[in-house]
Amino acid sequence: MAEQFNLRGSGMTSQRARDRLVASLEAQGIVSRDVLKAIQSTPRHIFIDEALAHGAYENNALPIGYNQTISQPYIVARMTELLLADKPLHKVLEVGTGSGYQTAILAQLVDSVYSVERIKPLQERAKVRLHAMQIDNVTLQHSDGGMGLARFAPYDAILVTAAPDQVPVELLSQLAIGGTMVIPVGAAQEQQLKLITKKSASHYDTKIVEAVNFVPLLSGVIS
Ligand code: SAH
Repeated sequence: MAEQFNLRGSGMTSQRARDRLVASLEAQGIVSRDVLKAIQSTPRHIFIDEALAHGAYENNALPIGYNQTISQPYIVARMTELLLADKPLHKVLEVGTGSGYQTAILAQLVDSVYSVERIKPLQERAKVRLHAMQIDNVTLQHSDGGMGLARFAPYDAILVTAAPDQVPVELLSQLAIGGTMVIPVGAAQEQQLKLITKKSASHYDTKIVEAVNFVPLLSGVIS
């Protein structure tokens, strides 16, 4: 399948475009060298429809079909940096695979990623792209990520890329003690990115990071 993608890119999707994106993320305050390196080496243009690929290295969210969007590179970088801040991560749960771009970035920085998506065709496309990048430490699951993914719990970290009104209790319970979750919470136009650390089975520390704008976390699945 890899031959269907131009992984190197050219012109607007070339390595120079990726380098410029990384410089703009640094200017916006992203400091993790590991995260910047992963963004520099990941062909974001293959995670987007060809017709939109010329805009892949601008710092914007873009449509990926089914009313969903690939997250803005800044927010991917910020969320990943927040998760990686304290310690190396072994097992990470991502809720909302979408295009698979955030999954690909995470997969380069942790031992294994479990990523849940409720829309089957998006999950299938993400799978092909991750395969083309020869990423083999990702398990994709088609299910409602609001329920987490109990089978592989507990997780050292959980990253949620769609916004619920409130933090789902299942996600809190599937987090390891000492683990962290980054999650956008709230209704449209009022969302806040939260960084939650599980201090004990019943005690959580929550920090509000910044205002964000994600698609909503919806229940049920689409096949
Ligand atoms: N990280 C992705 C973000 C995609 S947008 C990217 O950068 O491409 C958020 C995704 O979350 C969408 O694909 C949406 O279908 C998915 N989603 C929303 N609610 C969900 C749920 N309950 N379980 C799993 N995925 C969900």
